[in-house]
Amino acid sequence: MPIVSLTNVSKAYPSRNPGDGEIVAVDDVTLEIEKGDVFGIIGYSGAGKSTLVRLINALEPATSGSILVDGVDITSLKESELRRIRGGIGMIFQQFNLFSSRSVKANIAYPLTLAGWTKADIEARVTELLSFVGLSDKAKAYPEQLSGGQKQRVGIARALATGPAILLADEATSALDPQTTHEVLDLLKRVNQEQGVTIVVITHEMDVIQTIATKVAVMERGRVIEQGDVFDVFSAPQNPASQRFVGTVVKGIPSPAELAVLRERHQGRIVTFSFRDGDSSQAQVFLDLASAGLDFELVFGGINDIRGRAFGHLTLAIRGEDAAIDSALAAIGDRVEVTEIAGEEAR
Ligand code: ADP
Repeated sequence: MPIVSLTNVSKAYPSRNPGDGEIVAVDDVTLEIEKGDVFGIIGYSGAGKSTLVRLINALEPATSGSILVDGVDITSLKESELRRIRGGIGMIFQQFNLFSSRSVKANIAYPLTLAGWTKADIEARVTELLSFVGLSDKAKAYPEQLSGGQKQRVGIARALATGPAILLADEATSALDPQTTHEVLDLLKRVNQEQGVTIVVITHEMDVIQTIATKVAVMERGRVIEQGDVFDVFSAPQNPASQRFVGTVVKGIPSPAELAVLRERHQGRIVTFSFRDGDSSQAQVFLDLASAGLDFELVFGGINDIRGRAFGHLTLAIRGEDAAIDSALAAIGDRVEVTEIAGEEAR
């Protein structure tokens, strides 16, 4: 059974400019998050990601559709019951949202105090959490004395304090440098693997999805335009909009500007071959082209790795008789994905 299940969920806000009607921030979204997933939601700013998160943790009501959390339809719950649902969901934020006037220890203890834990239990739990996030020596420090990465570790410890089944991370590494981002992502991986917490990662950074997510949903203008296994979505995006999105972050796909340069510098037809692990070998593609008597040159390429599985794109300029190129590409196209960039498109 999925731990979060959204069916035809929409959320509309009245426009901030009176008379402009409404803004549909989340538009007919259907998705399922399985227990134990690290589920990434990626999209540009304004795509509706944060709104979706506020719907999942019941901070705002949906306009329509159903939202099941752990099998319970939260769209029909009373406020008192919603509080219990929220208690099972931890949250971390881009700006950490720590209490600056409280020590690290008091920040982590806060949700436990709210939940009515005894002093002794709080003490033991905070000690355990500090050790888990690697900040045992910072219990008495104040947030301003910590680095960004340390602040986010405190945020994670606080979010985990009451033992939630779900952790929502809203742009949780967007304020951090790349090195610190990776340390925080490693910690989130441990939260998922060692504590079995399902994690929903909201981000505009592909790198974050690539590093920790197992599943991904791509959002654009309130809609989920594509979702699935991270490897599948990034190695072979189906939707034109997600192809554009993936193309900006995946290595080896030439941008329109890069294509224009390739077109100018190289004679022949510009063709991209996309390889996924398990596809026939790259050598076979080159052999097929050579044995068809074609001349070719590797002009662009890149290889990507997603949790040990590789995929990549190689772009060749191919020269020879058009008919010979056509039949070679048709034969190769049975085994690997072949995309030819028409001359006009590349200009
Ligand atoms: P993201 O997190 O992907 O950047 P958001 O969910 O914040 O996107 O926003 C999606 C759209 O909904 C945007 O057009 C935004 O301006 C609008 N929006 C979000 N919250 C509100 C609100 N409280 N009132 C009106 N419009 C909102």
